[in-house]
Amino acid sequence: MSKELTITRNKVVTIRFALKETGKETLEEGTLDYLHGFKNLMPTLEKFLTDKKEGFKGKVEMGPRDAFGEINKELVMKIPKSEFENDQEIEVGTQIELESEEGVIPALVVAIEGDTITVDGNHPYASKHVTFDIEILKVRDASTEELAHGHAHGGHGHHH
Ligand code: ZN
Repeated sequence: MSKELTITRNKVVTIRFALKETGKETLEEGTLDYLHGFKNLMPTLEKFLTDKKEGFKGKVEMGPRDAFGEINKELVMKIPKSEFENDQEIEVGTQIELESEEGVIPALVVAIEGDTITVDGNHPYASKHVTFDIEILKVRDASTEELAHGHAHGGHGHHH
């Protein structure tokens, strides 16, 4: 076997994945190019894929702590409408961005009552036990530019 086909740091890896709530329905599926060893994926996934070869198929089960986190009640917040610049455009289901101590986090408007907007900054899959079905489609060396940027380019990677 050629060494280039094994996943190590600085390889660009193409995977096909299906993310399921363990024992339940598929949440997302798709194909992804990522740069291995640069925290492009969840640490548990990167660890699982390390040293695997092109053509490998497997599955990883994760609890919320390794996946999308537990539900944090502090991230469900009631905010006065007056604090929104564009409150006329906001409705239930609108994606907004909240500024927090850890930077900007995406949040979802979950309720609007009177002058109060309730937003939820938890990941939509928070608290879920999930299973990733993964197939390794391709492994290649990263380009100098990809290493400098810390992510994969082209294909199913970054375009810019
Ligand atoms: Zn880039």
